[in-house]
Amino acid sequence: MINISKVETWITKSELSDDGWSQIKNFLFVKLTTADDYEGWGEAFTLPTREKGVVQIIHDLITSLSNIDDLNPEIFHNEVKIIADGHRGIDFSAATSAIEMSLWDIKGKQENKPLYKVLSNNSKKEIPVYATIWSDKYKNNEEISSRAIELLNQGYGGIKIYPLQNRTIEEAKICVSKIRDGIGPKTPLMLDLACPKDPNIALKFAPLIKEFNPYWFEEPFEGEATSMLKKIKNETGLKIVTGERQFGVYHYIETLIAEAVDIFNPDIAGVGGIIDFLKIAELSNKKEVKVTPHCWNSMSIAASAMLHVCKSSPNTEMAEFFPEYIPHALKFSNTNFTISNGIIELDDKPGLGIDINIESLKNIASNYKESLINKN
Ligand SMILES: [Mg+2]
Repeated sequence: MINISKVETWITKSELSDDGWSQIKNFLFVKLTTADDYEGWGEAFTLPTREKGVVQIIHDLITSLSNIDDLNPEIFHNEVKIIADGHRGIDFSAATSAIEMSLWDIKGKQENKPLYKVLSNNSKKEIPVYATIWSDKYKNNEEISSRAIELLNQGYGGIKIYPLQNRTIEEAKICVSKIRDGIGPKTPLMLDLACPKDPNIALKFAPLIKEFNPYWFEEPFEGEATSMLKKIKNETGLKIVTGERQFGVYHYIETLIAEAVDIFNPDIAGVGGIIDFLKIAELSNKKEVKVTPHCWNSMSIAASAMLHVCKSSPNTEMAEFFPEYIPHALKFSNTNFTISNGIIELDDKPGLGIDINIESLKNIASNYKESLINKN
């Protein structure tokens, strides 16, 4: 029984990472408390100018469901469908992702099981992990290459870069070549194009970098443009990744039917919820399409949810980490994982396994909101 009595949300401030590599985005955390004092944590994917809007949706959703005495994740998922009435968006989906995540955390704590054991009886032993090398500042090829080597030495099993960021196609080719030289021929190298405005950019770029054996070609164009993605997949012969900006299940079904991708990367804190995520993974498995969760979120609550989902689903391939976000997470949270030899190990604590220090969270938060849930 999950009888919610209180909802709290925090938006953290954006700050420069301790190593100066990048500006860490702000995060949105939700804590649900039940009438019998269980606490569940969730996290919503954030985008600039919308965080407070998502906070409001979270509080209004829970308040509107105050007459439900047992708001377990499945009931919440079904109620959300009714409330949305077919009208969803990434902000609504981020709100429902955060709430559902915290309900799963409560459920795991009530059953005294780690979440992956609540989600599956047949969990995976190992989760491969890769490091995303992203910065809001320009980094030259030498800086990216030495960071890649440093991260591989820290135990990450692959590297993702954004070669077209601040570079022409020709400059991006040199960048990919330098990074491949640095990390050697066998390390998976993922290229994220982050949706160029013109699909011809991907079509021109692919033949230039094929010799450097990229493991995948992420968002070569808008995820909604299914027929163009299919064209890029067919013409380039590279593994196409898409899905981080989409939500719900139907978009992914349509993309599967069109045979337009090789890998989906829905965001664990933005796709709508763990139930939607697992449904996408299950449907993808039937079409031999892999799922690697996108996680441009904190390396605390959302990262933990990603790891539990990866462990519980047979079809997930790798977990995404933003390494410079880990010291930031440690300012207000424990971490429940260890990384070595390209594999991430998850602790067996109940629920998500994350403990938040509220006082520390307050120190880095710019916004706090509390709603007490009154039962009618
Ligand atoms: Mg991406």
